[in-house]
Amino acid sequence: CKASSEVEGTSHGNTDTQVHGLSEKVVGVLGGGQLGRMLCEAASQMAMKIIVLDPMENCPASALCHYHMVGSYDDSATVEEFAKRCGVLTVEIEHVDAATLEKLEQQGVDCQPKASTIRIIQDKYLQKVHFSRHAIPLPEFMQIYDLESAKKAGDLFGFPLMIKSKRLAYDGRGNAVAKSVEELSSAVNALGGYDHGLYAEKWAPFVKELSVIVARGRDNSILCYPVVETIHRENICHIVKSPANVSWKILKLATDVAYKAVSSLEGAGVFAVELFLTADGQVLLNEVAPRPHNSGHHTIEACFTSQFEQHLRAVVGLPLGDPSMKTPAAIMYNILGEDEGEPGFLLANQLIGRALRIKGASVHWYDKPEMRKQRKMGHITIVGPSMGIVESRLKFMLTEILDGQPA
Ligand code: ATP
Ligand code: MG
Ligand code: MG
Repeated sequence: CKASSEVEGTSHGNTDTQVHGLSEKVVGVLGGGQLGRMLCEAASQMAMKIIVLDPMENCPASALCHYHMVGSYDDSATVEEFAKRCGVLTVEIEHVDAATLEKLEQQGVDCQPKASTIRIIQDKYLQKVHFSRHAIPLPEFMQIYDLESAKKAGDLFGFPLMIKSKRLAYDGRGNAVAKSVEELSSAVNALGGYDHGLYAEKWAPFVKELSVIVARGRDNSILCYPVVETIHRENICHIVKSPANVSWKILKLATDVAYKAVSSLEGAGVFAVELFLTADGQVLLNEVAPRPHNSGHHTIEACFTSQFEQHLRAVVGLPLGDPSMKTPAAIMYNILGEDEGEPGFLLANQLIGRALRIKGASVHWYDKPEMRKQRKMGHITIVGPSMGIVESRLKFMLTEILDGQPA
């Protein structure tokens, strides 16, 4: 394989002439956050060329990619310019300009997953309509555009009622709960008002949240990772446990729902299917992400093929890798900003200092230039011979005392 220090994709023919490791295709990623950074790490292992488009000069992926175009992935002209350098175009964030991707596809640009998938997923209401048409089980939902329709949703679905922004939602920013009819207006206002584009969702009385990372190759082959349990705190993913501690019946049901959901979407890549498990054994779909996901970070240390390697394999057309676990148990713990600025870095450093002493622990730091409260700054994955042992290692890591190691 011939390496090249130059990134020279071709225009819309998309047949890069140089060979770069396992694939000759230059992979262009819209977004250069932590997911982009971890895609770059996986690309490096396979000597694949990866370039990113992100508006932030010192975004997490910038230090590791072959080329960073500084610009907005929401700006048509910029995305078109970026696409000229790519053999295949993919995303690490769904909030990109779908209309431009559709236009580029018509011009022959290879987008994976397809622009149609991004369009459906980036609007959570449209996503719900799509999955309900495909008979995927979901919490009931309806669009709301004024107080009258919000009250109707309350009458139909009861309280608490989840109000969600249709677009630009992440880490729970875009969700507000109304506990009663009186709280409807304040919940709607917290999300920027009805004009912002809102819908209401029936409260899902879940006993657990589950997630399945699903990979689809360019040949339409589909492989599912083992079902994981996700634990959210204040709407943000906090801990992921793999494998999930649920019955075989639930594992099969969750995998079937995830498989069916991804089958209904177009294009190659890794998808994350977030699910609710209810007390009566129902599995309901919460949402799908058309990219690697926080609930799959543990796959770097815990699975034969990480979700990042898998995404790259999928979009360039290599065979999919083995998604199964190579260790009996894994826990992923998100390092979230606990404070703004310097004090926040100090707290994160203390936690990392403890993690570095824990058996089976791997620390990932995203090198974000600014520390903010509740911001995902890094994560720690702990692997081990059983869930009980990794749980005790996590507990130990989260305590101040460091005199002795758990078994
Ligand atoms: P992400 O960062 O995963 O993209 P998001 O901002 O898109 O998150 P959601 O996934 O819609 O937000 O919701 C975040 C969390 O809020 C869920 O993981 C769950 O804990 C809770 N939640 C969402 N919808 C409901 C619901 N209908 N009933 C109960 N809890 C819910
Ligand atoms: Mg989301
Ligand atoms: Mg979510």
